[in-house]
Amino acid sequence: MTDLNGHEFYRRPLNETNSNLTTSAGARQAGWIAGAGNSAFALTLPVTEQMNHRGIRVIHRYTDDAAGNGDYIDWWSPEIDINTGFQSLNGGTVYYDPATGQLATGWRNVAGNNYYFADGYQMKPGSDDWVYNDQLHGQMYTGVQWADGHCYDFGRDGVAHAQSWNDGWSWPFPASGEGSFAFGQGFGYNWAGRTNSYHDGLDFGAYDHPGADVHAVHGGRVIDIATVRDQQARDLWWYALVWDGRTLFVYQEAFSNRSRIIVNVGDLVYPGQVIGYRDLSHLHLGMNTSPNYRMDLAHSYQPNWTDSSQATGSGSWIDPEWALRVRPY
Ligand SMILES: [Zn+2]
Repeated sequence: MTDLNGHEFYRRPLNETNSNLTTSAGARQAGWIAGAGNSAFALTLPVTEQMNHRGIRVIHRYTDDAAGNGDYIDWWSPEIDINTGFQSLNGGTVYYDPATGQLATGWRNVAGNNYYFADGYQMKPGSDDWVYNDQLHGQMYTGVQWADGHCYDFGRDGVAHAQSWNDGWSWPFPASGEGSFAFGQGFGYNWAGRTNSYHDGLDFGAYDHPGADVHAVHGGRVIDIATVRDQQARDLWWYALVWDGRTLFVYQEAFSNRSRIIVNVGDLVYPGQVIGYRDLSHLHLGMNTSPNYRMDLAHSYQPNWTDSSQATGSGSWIDPEWALRVRPY
């Protein structure tokens, strides 16, 4: 018994001492040969736990060696799938790869259709930590979801249909478009007045980019709305986090209280949608490759971070001015 890569699970000898030579099934198998009598062999080959969710093959080996390693002739069975492909697990649907026995994650093309399977990471409720949830590992996406930076309707059957009208980009204050940015508003190492002279986003000032309506620059799902407090526990500002499966968008320093943000955690937002009303001096837009905002925030003054003990591993700040001009995806 082997997997599809030739790895052997086990072998069983099949001869006149350990096989059942007299079953009616065996007799039937050879019944078309005149005089074959009890020449057919029958042996039960149990499915072990290691074989579950894999494609396997049975090699029938005719050999002159008791251990099965001498002169031989093999006959290979076709692929036999043991609970592979789409299966139910934890109340959802998952997909077992026959070649590896592992749950599929990310994109997978099956019979010409594209499906997306969750990696198991999700926002921990009430925090900015992105934690591993075993129940979600491999779960097939259904309904309208953002994956890898784009919006899809996965319906009930999980087949991805691109929602191309939800893609694209917007300036946060479209009336002034790109507008202009003063010294220190831009991204990166640009102003010695900051810690490490590093700015992890782009500031849209109320003077250079007027207007209260803050438009989403890209679509995604709202994964958190929370406040940053000073050392006296007073609110400095409220922020909203939008994750599109590829980039985290941080809208902060623009909203003095929760009521200025008009979306809710779990909402899907689309490019250009108004998500809140600025009533502070500027909007700081941050973009990071990691949804783990607690880690992003802890590395506000560095271009990137890596931490293998964290669920999402690493994060890098992206220049929003570049992204909004180039529209990289
Ligand atoms: Zn800023």
